[in-house]
Amino acid sequence: MKVLIVEDDFISRRLLQRYLSPYGECDIAVNGAEALMAFQQARQEGVPYDLICLDIMMPELDGNQTLKAIRRQEADEGDGGLRGVKVIMTTMRDDPDSILEAFNQQCEAYLLKPIDRERLYDHLVKLGLVLEGPATS
Ligand SMILES: [Mg+2]
Repeated sequence: MKVLIVEDDFISRRLLQRYLSPYGECDIAVNGAEALMAFQQARQEGVPYDLICLDIMMPELDGNQTLKAIRRQEADEGDGGLRGVKVIMTTMRDDPDSILEAFNQQCEAYLLKPIDRERLYDHLVKLGLVLEGPATS
């Protein structure tokens, strides 16, 4: 599995990286613009991401704007719907409007921060990204 972690907060970034790295290669983007660059580059190189963990609250290009751009590009290139990258939105607090917007932009799931390792793992299994089994450290 190839993962892109998009998060402007250092601590949250490090935590996600620690939780996800046992399952595959993790790239890091610290803002939406960098995320789009990484997303496009991976597609151009023919090794697209399987999962993007996308923070909603980020300065300038926020998570929802970033997700919108990702889905638009996939649709333009014939990779819409089920062919698209799996996206889990992450958010600091329960923000129903932002979460609803994210689902409208076609995210697969969301997680509240601080990220709970078991919940994250459950999503990975549900999305078919990892096989069910004991989590590794
Ligand atoms: Mg943030």
